[in-house]
Amino acid sequence: MTAIGPAWLRAHPLPVPAADDDKSQRGTVQVVGGCSEVPGAVLLAGEAALRAGAGKLRLATVRSVALHLALAMPEALVIPLDETEEGSIVPGASAALLARRSPCAAFLLGPGLSNDGAEALIDALLDGLEPGPGIVLDAGALSGLAARPGAVRRHAGRSVVTPHAGEMASILGIPKEEVSADPLSAARRAADLLGAVVAMKGSLTWVVAPGGQVLSCDHGLVGLATSGSGDTLAGIVAGLLARGADPVQATAWAVWLHAEAGHRLSRRIGPLGFLARELLAEVPVIMADLA
Ligand code: AMP
Ligand code: MG
Repeated sequence: MTAIGPAWLRAHPLPVPAADDDKSQRGTVQVVGGCSEVPGAVLLAGEAALRAGAGKLRLATVRSVALHLALAMPEALVIPLDETEEGSIVPGASAALLARRSPCAAFLLGPGLSNDGAEALIDALLDGLEPGPGIVLDAGALSGLAARPGAVRRHAGRSVVTPHAGEMASILGIPKEEVSADPLSAARRAADLLGAVVAMKGSLTWVVAPGGQVLSCDHGLVGLATSGSGDTLAGIVAGLLARGADPVQATAWAVWLHAEAGHRLSRRIGPLGFLARELLAEVPVIMADLA
């Protein structure tokens, strides 16, 4: 087991763009998520992807939120999706619409996604994805995967899942207490079940790859346990995948950047009370310090 820290990160440097690269060469991130009750998670995740250095951003969310999102995040192309009366994404039509868009370098599915229709939406999106892009599943995209691991397995080698203990319990179909008692074992099982890199989040975060590679990060601090924090982590992973990092590297780097951003805010603001959105401006500075 290897600790994630500056030594490991410097030994696994992120791809560096050539001076004459354009934004397409650092990849487009497509985020799909949100609902009328949780409209802002997509914004946090999308900004995180750009702060991690991705070149372009597309956000897809429910129609009633789309214009607000586009104005809050003028850097993004925003795709309005059909919305149910309850304010959730309509699965089939939305997946069909997204499948017609040009390919992306990384897909992030799940921030702010309501449970209503989420499984059908995720299955349809994963089914319609041509092999190629990196995929990150978080939050609402993680529910019920125990019953349908094949949806993720077909993208083995290119996928990352970022559950907290409750979401891991849903992935494996076991009680949360069992996950909390032995999160590393749960992460290993999920990595093998899904063929995906797992970031098993908690006060200590495990990064586990299918086949057994294990990294750990104990650099986090309790102030990171705050609303929207996981959305920013998932967005950083997606941004790094879009830049060309492999799934283990993108996940390990993201976990460290997120934790170190917390430390930097903690020194300026205090150990509690910094906001998830405030983590994001720290990320480019930390990446530059590690270059
Ligand atoms: P989420 O629950 O999806 O918003 O994600 C919470 C984030 O905060 C994850 O990155 C966790 O690893 C991190 N986190 C939660 N609790 C703690 C803790 N006690 N100490 C350090 N990091 C934590
Ligand atoms: Mg979360």
